[in-house]
Amino acid sequence: MSHLHIQSKLPEVGTTIFTVMSALAAEFKAVNLGQGFPDYPMSAELTALVTEAMNKGYNQYSPMPGWMPLREAIAEKIAFLYNAAVNPETEITITPGGTYAIYTALTTVLRPGDEVIVFEPGYDSYIPNIIVNGAIPVRIDLLFPDYRIDWEKVRAAITPKTRMIMLNSPHNPTGAVLREEDIQQLRNLVQNTNIIIVSDEVYEHIVFDNVKHQSILRYPDLAQRSFVCFSFGKVYHCTGWKLGYCIAPAAFTSEFRKVHQFNCFSCHTPSQVALATFLRNKESYLSLGSFLQQKRDYFLQLMKSTRFTMLDSKGSYFICAQYDRISDESDKEFAIRITKEFGVAVIPVSAFYQDATDNKVVRFCFGKKEETLALAAERLSRI
Ligand code: PMP
Ligand code: GLN
Repeated sequence: MSHLHIQSKLPEVGTTIFTVMSALAAEFKAVNLGQGFPDYPMSAELTALVTEAMNKGYNQYSPMPGWMPLREAIAEKIAFLYNAAVNPETEITITPGGTYAIYTALTTVLRPGDEVIVFEPGYDSYIPNIIVNGAIPVRIDLLFPDYRIDWEKVRAAITPKTRMIMLNSPHNPTGAVLREEDIQQLRNLVQNTNIIIVSDEVYEHIVFDNVKHQSILRYPDLAQRSFVCFSFGKVYHCTGWKLGYCIAPAAFTSEFRKVHQFNCFSCHTPSQVALATFLRNKESYLSLGSFLQQKRDYFLQLMKSTRFTMLDSKGSYFICAQYDRISDESDKEFAIRITKEFGVAVIPVSAFYQDATDNKVVRFCFGKKEETLALAAERLSRI
């Protein structure tokens, strides 16, 4: 026991809801549709490539910005998908996951007192990342229930201190996606300002109903003021690998690397060597949207036998639902109770609001085997 006191930099923060709900799911042997991770196997070809890399001796530090052939493969992919020229030498950095890429981008830019516009509900790491850097989150609610951005609210929130806007499309937890009109609004808002954008695009391939993913990288005027963050965990069903990357203009990237090199320095080498080969197989990522769309549609069909009101999901592997026809408990109480009593773990969406706004909505992860989804829906139909 130490007699020394540390004044918390994050006094409002406890253990993340994902950890809490996964622990509860394990304790009560519940079907876990809470934390976002697939329960089906990843590609055996990709794991074989990692083994091959290890057997060939690729087991030492890779270069600080990342394994060059992987950065080159990423640049080719970005040119193919988004018609954007990204320099692998100066504009791509491999990171230990998307969360780390976002944290590093924020830490690279933010100074005490800077304001950051952030939408809620939003991925739970953003606001603590802002606060730990001494900056101020300026929270804007997405419009319930379709979770669109109200650009007039954004315009009204901009002040001379606004340093950054954080975007996430496809969106966790709601499955909303940015449309071309949103991008136009964003362009109008930020032109002639020094606002920097951090765009979390970890679900870039998981977009449904023939909608196009609006990567910031498609728009040179926006890309030149952005850090765009990605995660291999989402693309290749390997969330435990914690590997991702950040794309940003050379001047931003050189500052980003100053922070990165004294934090983790470099990432797991064998998986980078393997991904450099695997990424060239376009089908490996182009098939992801239809693969998960089928799961969304299957889950939606199953959920018709329940009393949940399903909201729309246009992307990601999440879908939200209202439960007001079932209960008037708070979403947290409801999520905990159905995990314990009915054996299905979900995430209460209030966890994605700093002030715990409760619209009586829970999030399901449908990136699961069909049998898992069927078992969960059968249990949910009894509530
Ligand atoms: N952003 C969002 C919106 C996510 O859902 C996730 C997945 N947890 C991440 C970032 C982080 O991905 P990673 O696991 O690669 O850190
Ligand atoms: N991204 C995942 C989710 O939203 C889990 C991330 C985590 O556990 N930190 O469920």
